Amino acid sequence: MSDEKAPASESGHYMYGGGLDDGATGQTFYLETFGCQMNDHDSEKVAGVLLARGYRQVDGPEAAKVILYNTCSIREKAAQKVFSRLGELRPVDEQERKWIEEGRLELRSADPKSRATGGAGSEPQSGGVRTRRLQSAGKIIGVLGCVAQQEGEEIFERAPWVSLVCGSASYRKLPQLIAELEAGNRRVTGLDTDTDETFETEITRRDNPWRAYLTIIEGCDKACSYCVVPFTRGPERSRGSASILEEVRRLAEAGYSEVQLLGQTVNSYADPSARKMRFSELLTAVAEVNGIRRVRFTTSHPRDFGKDIVEAIEARQNICDHVHLPVQSGSTAVLRAMARTYSREEYLEKIALMKAARRPISITTDMIVGFPGETEKDFEETLTLLDEVQYDSVFAFKYSPRPNTPSLKMADAIPEEEKGRRLAILMDRQREIQRVQNEKLVGETFEVLVDGKSRRENQWSGHTSSNRVMNFTSPERELLGDYVQVKVVSAMPNSLVGEMLGR
Ligand code: SAM
Ligand code: SF4
Repeated sequence: MSDEKAPASESGHYMYGGGLDDGATGQTFYLETFGCQMNDHDSEKVAGVLLARGYRQVDGPEAAKVILYNTCSIREKAAQKVFSRLGELRPVDEQERKWIEEGRLELRSADPKSRATGGAGSEPQSGGVRTRRLQSAGKIIGVLGCVAQQEGEEIFERAPWVSLVCGSASYRKLPQLIAELEAGNRRVTGLDTDTDETFETEITRRDNPWRAYLTIIEGCDKACSYCVVPFTRGPERSRGSASILEEVRRLAEAGYSEVQLLGQTVNSYADPSARKMRFSELLTAVAEVNGIRRVRFTTSHPRDFGKDIVEAIEARQNICDHVHLPVQSGSTAVLRAMARTYSREEYLEKIALMKAARRPISITTDMIVGFPGETEKDFEETLTLLDEVQYDSVFAFKYSPRPNTPSLKMADAIPEEEKGRRLAILMDRQREIQRVQNEKLVGETFEVLVDGKSRRENQWSGHTSSNRVMNFTSPERELLGDYVQVKVVSAMPNSLVGEMLGR
């Protein structure tokens, strides 16, 4: 961990902020999140840590004293986004200061009327006043999450106006790092991954009033050859079952009716306590907590997916009938190159377990196209897997080469254009499968947790237990957070349309 005192001005060009509680905006923070549900939930916990220290959350960077980006580096595009955000916060240089004085450059700031003295951008367009850059003087800027872990202190080189760099494996240290910034330290970092603890906080500021996320396992010990997660999130660490169940009880008492258990490989859960609960036992125990009407879990790894999980779903109606089981490719040769630890046939055995269940289970997956060396025949096998499994939804990605990963050095890279072609074919094929699948649901009735209200009168939306989106009509005045019965009247590839029958 590095830890420097703040100079008043480091290069003569940049103006930095001091401690956290001076300045016009007071103790306010803005937190923007990129990436997966794990990141969303990490942000809820980070917000909890700051709120507990008396900070107030604001919904734009302009009004914030502390600006935090919780980043994702799973694909290159996601990682680039944060540097473009940081670019918007670059303090003014001499040239830009002149443009400001000439009225050719104006900055976004907390006070829309004020002309800024910091945080400018590039040359203004001819005659026009540019306002894209943000007034960043006096603000504390932090990078959290996977990009922070991956780039480490290099972020300070690329964006010297950043003060805090903290990877997700070091979030336990966040309160301490924030205290150091409050004390006036210029730069603080949390970049260790050799931790064996999980990040638990007293207060988590939850975004969704009905669904509570709960990380039960952090990090990843699998070593898929394309993936940065083992580097950015560190080794697998599971949270004790008693502490998980205690939190679920508290969530139920606080009115949450749905709990989603999270982990990069959630079903690799290994209870560190003497109780040694298996993942399927934990699922059942969570479902038995009074007041919990839905239990979800994501993401499952095929290697650790067994019959016991299917049996838990069969036995408890309130364990949702949905499993997200990423396959990545339908070709055993590609799966081997990806180091996924299973063949196409072995994966299909797991699918067969779910297809044989007494209760229909909705299956979704992730796929990567254009992995190095993926032949036309390999890709065909991915398409035939779609036909065979009949997924309810697929998240498909073009392979993106990532730093430090073994696949970076693999031969036979697929050109971007070809990756795009394969992705479009895959998505078309899957869209047609979903259209046909969803058509079959017309006339059926589902329980829906209502989580959205349209601006159009009598229009609501929610999710079924199988995680399908249901848009439906009802003349009732208030339904948000309720569980209602909805009959499907028509279907689209990505959603169902229904009419409410009752509660
Ligand atoms: N742990 C989960 C698993 O094993 O499937 C998901 C982790 S990752 C956050 C979500 C998805 O991103 C992966 O399932 C994979 O499809 C995709 N992904 C990961 N690395 C990628 C890469 N280098 N290029 C393209 N997609 C990638
Ligand atoms: Fe990445 Fe593989 Fe771990 Fe998933 S299982 S997070 S894809 S290394």
